Amino acid sequence: MHCSKCGLKIADFASWFRFGQKCPDCNSLLVNVWYYDEMKNFIRMIMDKSFKPASLWNYFDYLPLMNRENIVSSGGEGVVPLERWNFLERYSKEKYGLNIIVWAHRQDDNYSTGTFKDLAGTMVASILKENNISRYVVASTGNIGVAYSRYLAAAGISLSAFIPQISIKSQEAEIGCFGQTVYRVDGDYHRAKELAKEYATKYGILLSAGNFDPMRIEAKKTMVYEWLRLLPDFPTVYMQALSGGSGPIGIAKACEEFDNSNLKLFEMPRFILTQPGNCAPMAHAWDDAKAKNFPHGWEFDYPVYKNPVTRIQTLSTGNPTAFPVVGPLVHKSRGEILAFDEEKTVDVARLVAYEAAVRLGPASAVTVGGFFDSLKLGYLKEGDIVLLNIGEGIRRAPDFIEFLAYTTKYVNSIDDCQPVARESYRQHLWDKI
Ligand SMILES: [Zn+2]
Repeated sequence: MHCSKCGLKIADFASWFRFGQKCPDCNSLLVNVWYYDEMKNFIRMIMDKSFKPASLWNYFDYLPLMNRENIVSSGGEGVVPLERWNFLERYSKEKYGLNIIVWAHRQDDNYSTGTFKDLAGTMVASILKENNISRYVVASTGNIGVAYSRYLAAAGISLSAFIPQISIKSQEAEIGCFGQTVYRVDGDYHRAKELAKEYATKYGILLSAGNFDPMRIEAKKTMVYEWLRLLPDFPTVYMQALSGGSGPIGIAKACEEFDNSNLKLFEMPRFILTQPGNCAPMAHAWDDAKAKNFPHGWEFDYPVYKNPVTRIQTLSTGNPTAFPVVGPLVHKSRGEILAFDEEKTVDVARLVAYEAAVRLGPASAVTVGGFFDSLKLGYLKEGDIVLLNIGEGIRRAPDFIEFLAYTTKYVNSIDDCQPVARESYRQHLWDKI
């Protein structure tokens, strides 16, 4: 491991934890993990058609764990379907005359907690176990708290999770049911982070390093490995809902690995990231910087929203401290940061359930909403290969599925009931988009 800023060699995770998860020389929170193998065996591995990973741990040689015996996994993390979503391709062609390909990376299909966070969960639990860490602290809007709770429980590690007032009850229940401690904070996500930090300091417990955490970044980069293994062509556009931003940082890390090995297999995709309209500080900072043509230091100029009121609680990062890293990454990729009208998330989720038989969680509905807005705004181009990260399914948000009800009819006589063809709903759903 090396400091990304000054290049200081940090050796391993034991040293990194000892240094307080920052560079002892320059205090940078960003560190890079490098592998001796330099990706050469990787290419051989994925070119072999008989290679069928059971989980991201089949990429062990490119992951920061020393001993396989410390793997904490329930199987399948990160090895999820990539589906062509033809209905979005048809719409792009019919309405905008664009020939594009759309892939949905079904990270909602992760077995343990039904979100993309299972990747971080298995990685963090394994590395903590390897380093004999018995207690851990995290602040979370919900999904990362649930994943850590589940995986750390399997490793026999006690977790204290600080969640904001806005988090839904089921998140609290899912964290707590594994026997982990939940502190519901009287305040927003930023306040939960502050308290988690004070608590970690007071009791000398290791605190999750958040969006720049190399454990999380190394887990998320394996998404790119799966694209290389499974897709005929590398995506030109990557879309996800944006809260903290460790997803794009992970993708950029994977791209860097190949560049450093002189294996120029692909270009970094354009990152088109979407925030919910009621909590979109990065999108607002981006719009502002873009209007001024990205003046010097623009990445440090962002608004902070206290106690944001959004129905997409998992995306309620009102103080976007990762913007100085995420903003420039998006800029370098020639991408965009959008704000999607969150009132429309229900219509988007209904449409996707109808057309693809996939029940999106609210954050994933924001991702797909960002796709529709990108078409409208001209951000997608002829020939683009778009990859949508479907980061969470409906399982994570039982309150959201109730909003999807639209055919309920109260009856007490057979005269009130007539057969309706499924097809008759289609136009109605598309008209809402
Ligand atoms: Zn440094």
